[in-house]
Amino acid sequence: MRDSSPNSSDENASRVTVELRDVSKIYESGVVALGPLDLRVSEGEFVSLLGPSGCGKSTALRLIAGLTTPTTGRVLLAPRKGDTRAGHSIGFVFQEPTLMPWTSVADNVGLPLQLAGVTATEARPRIQDALAQVGLAEFADRYPRELSGGMKMRASLARALVTRPKILLMDEPFAALDEITRFRLNDDLLALWRSLRMTVVFVTHSVFESVYLSQRVLVMTARPGRRSFERRIESDEPRSAAFRTSVAYADHCRAVSEALAPAYAGALSL
Ligand code: ADP
Ligand code: MG
Repeated sequence: MRDSSPNSSDENASRVTVELRDVSKIYESGVVALGPLDLRVSEGEFVSLLGPSGCGKSTALRLIAGLTTPTTGRVLLAPRKGDTRAGHSIGFVFQEPTLMPWTSVADNVGLPLQLAGVTATEARPRIQDALAQVGLAEFADRYPRELSGGMKMRASLARALVTRPKILLMDEPFAALDEITRFRLNDDLLALWRSLRMTVVFVTHSVFESVYLSQRVLVMTARPGRRSFERRIESDEPRSAAFRTSVAYADHCRAVSEALAPAYAGALSL
């Protein structure tokens, strides 16, 4: 079972929305995949997890989403203000868009609502909203095969947004896209994060992407992933192409890359 952490008594202090407390994961196969890991993400924060393949990043996201349970430690999600139900709406975006090829973009995006028993009449405007948020308003009746890679990922993002999540978990969502498309999606994601005020935990292999997007970058060790380094990324908001070419951006990228190097060396020697 997942717990809810008590509210901070100081309403002005940034509320912790997601907390991993001394969490580790050992799969039934015996693979020690993660941790122990401590992670606290504040409400509305954008945090990236960076680390070599197999260090447990996806496992960490799955633990937060409640798709798997920790072997030790606790995963805590703060109760939402005014939320009378225990349920949390969490959006999850995977590396592959995983769209159903036999049905329209709108039906794909509406799937979480359909699974939740929302009526078609009620779902329709919400699907349209989600499509508009990702710039696909005109593509509701198209089929996934008619979309480019970037558009498929937009549809996948719309499907995650359709339940209006306050927590968005993204697992290397743009890794398969070309750089220009990725940059565009990065900017659109930041705009959505600002306007929807979501808490985002973003997994990526790319130092550049993590620094561009995040308020905080957390570098993990090789498996089992633990925290090896953390850096706060402060910059003028909103971020734009100017940030990518700034000296500060280059400094952050260098520091994060240096922190990541030993983790990759560790992964290679396994
Ligand atoms: P990452 O996302 O950082 O690449 P994962 O969280 O996917 O890492 O995996 C961490 C480790 O756990 C890897 O060694 C992987 O093979 C293993 N693993 C992941 N999922 C499972 C599973 N369902 N059963 C057994 N081992 C798993
Ligand atoms: Mg992964």
